[in-house]
Amino acid sequence: MTQKKRALVTGGNRGIGLAIARGLLAQCYETIITSRSLDDAKQATESLEGDVIPIELDISDDRSIEQALQTLTSRIDRLDVLINNAGIYPDKNTNILEISREVLESAMTTNTFGTIQMVQAFLPLLEKSEDARVINMSSGMGAFDGLTATATSYCLSKLALNGATIMLARSLQSQGIVVNSMCPGWVRTDMGGESAARSPEEGADTAIWLATEAPRSHTGKFWRDRKEIAF
Ligand code: NDP
Repeated sequence: MTQKKRALVTGGNRGIGLAIARGLLAQCYETIITSRSLDDAKQATESLEGDVIPIELDISDDRSIEQALQTLTSRIDRLDVLINNAGIYPDKNTNILEISREVLESAMTTNTFGTIQMVQAFLPLLEKSEDARVINMSSGMGAFDGLTATATSYCLSKLALNGATIMLARSLQSQGIVVNSMCPGWVRTDMGGESAARSPEEGADTAIWLATEAPRSHTGKFWRDRKEIAF
């Protein structure tokens, strides 16, 4: 009997992450959803059908990452897909000439450094997979031509995340682990707001494609709508 593939989605309790989890479960992936609150993760699990494991995880805190890894290592011996979806948008329309170090640090700590730490921590489990894939949820606002003057910390953190994607892809190529960045478009979530053009399901589509069926030759690239876009 073939083993079920297994995926972990950070920030899987709401928004795009929850839609990604639902899509992976529909394809019979065992799916770990993480949230900063275990109660929120469990509540989200109740809205999902399939093999779901709820886990508490704050990617801005190395101890929380270590704790989540320990909890999971007692239950799983392999991870096929890591979707680094969790992210924050702490900007208050502050121009780069005025933004505080504190706001810059909070965006970088979660959106960039947290994602890098997640890959480092879960690498031993990803190495056990024959089809390991890492997807980093970035944004067109982190592309060179998407940088705006007033979403300073968010743009910089996603630009740096894209850089990390390229470096991780190169570092992990010899181990056969593929790493990609993607932009979901403007999506109706707590972060995107009600006026956004896309549903969470539409925002999730490219992540699910990268996780399940995109050719493994695609690595170190930036994607939107299943098409490569410029960093
Ligand atoms: P939401 O604000 O709806 O959800 C964000 C998720 O990230 C929540 O599950 C939240 O968990 C989690 N999260 C935030 N900080 C942390 C942390 N430190 N540790 C662990 N989890 C955390 O956002 P979206 O669903 O819209 O966004 C998902 C991703 O897509 C983000 O990376 C975002 O930057 C990106 N994106 C979104 C766009 C949009 O238009 N919505 C456009 C482009 C990119 P909790 O419930 O605990 O707060």
